[in-house]
Amino acid sequence: MTIPYSLRNKKVFVAGDRGMVGSAIVRRLASENCEIISASRAELDLRDAQRVKDFIVDRKPQAVFVAAAKVGGILANSTRPVDFLADNLEIELSIMRGAFAAEVEKLLFLGSTCIYPKFAPQPMPESALLTGPLEATNEWYAIAKIAGIKLCQAYREQYDCDYISAMPTNLYGPGDNYDLNSSHVLPALIAKAHAAKIANAPSLTVWGTGLPRREFLHADDCADALVFLMQHWSDNEHVNVGVGEDISISDLARLVARVVGYEGQITNDLSKPDGTPRKLVDVTRLTALGWTARIPLEQGIADAYADFKRRHAC
Ligand code: GDP
Repeated sequence: MTIPYSLRNKKVFVAGDRGMVGSAIVRRLASENCEIISASRAELDLRDAQRVKDFIVDRKPQAVFVAAAKVGGILANSTRPVDFLADNLEIELSIMRGAFAAEVEKLLFLGSTCIYPKFAPQPMPESALLTGPLEATNEWYAIAKIAGIKLCQAYREQYDCDYISAMPTNLYGPGDNYDLNSSHVLPALIAKAHAAKIANAPSLTVWGTGLPRREFLHADDCADALVFLMQHWSDNEHVNVGVGEDISISDLARLVARVVGYEGQITNDLSKPDGTPRKLVDVTRLTALGWTARIPLEQGIADAYADFKRRHAC
């Protein structure tokens, strides 16, 4: 495959286009004048290999983004292991088999930085993959995502397919999941701070010690990076996608409270898990290619909060 690969005027299947990243990819592809192929969950169960293959062969996309996955925060991940392991394996295998049968020109598989070992060096370089034990609270999801990277590599090696993998850091943005039982920390804090503000509550509760550190990337920045990688990356190795900076959960809670306008106390629920102590990706590879994130965290949180109010708030 020649680099750069042009997406201009192409037919593109965005698997997971109703999700936060998938919908951001669709927004970003509008400026490439792409014809988007998508299917709702009711129309197509992405775990169903035969139906997915028939769908892709019938629609004949030239490029595919695998942005569909069973996702969730620390609680959902550790309590629904079959969903996170089996569903994700089935989804990625079905889509890649379908893409192969339809001879798509290029495919990008979206993973996650939880593929890295719990005690990987920080920031985590791509080379940290499979160098140590995973964090127990999300290993089901992580194993499925590692298998996805390996599937891309296997298709490259055996059939010379241009399948690539990108590993975005923790994402947030419009269309996020605000259900406190399954959400990630940033949308959870937005929902909690908003509820506490409306109720005039004296405090809001943060799970765990507040000491873990996480990096947050806005979904629109992520989509821009993924389109950039489709255009400029063709290699066996995966690429980290992040901002290169992290923040403690306590500082994040204070920042979210400020954006939301909540002035009460922030307390900790130590019965909840901390998860991995730090998750910051090394973005040297992506930066060297010429891409950097543009949306500052505070501005991104304000954007996500505006979307939350439009969709959920009374
Ligand atoms: P992780 O990055 O896979 O660990 O997933 P999360 O985004 O769910 O959690 C990140 C960190 O935020 C963990 O240390 C959580 O304990 C902490 N955290 C604090 N408050 C919350 C909350 O209300 N919801 C979630 N999901 N995590 C929280």
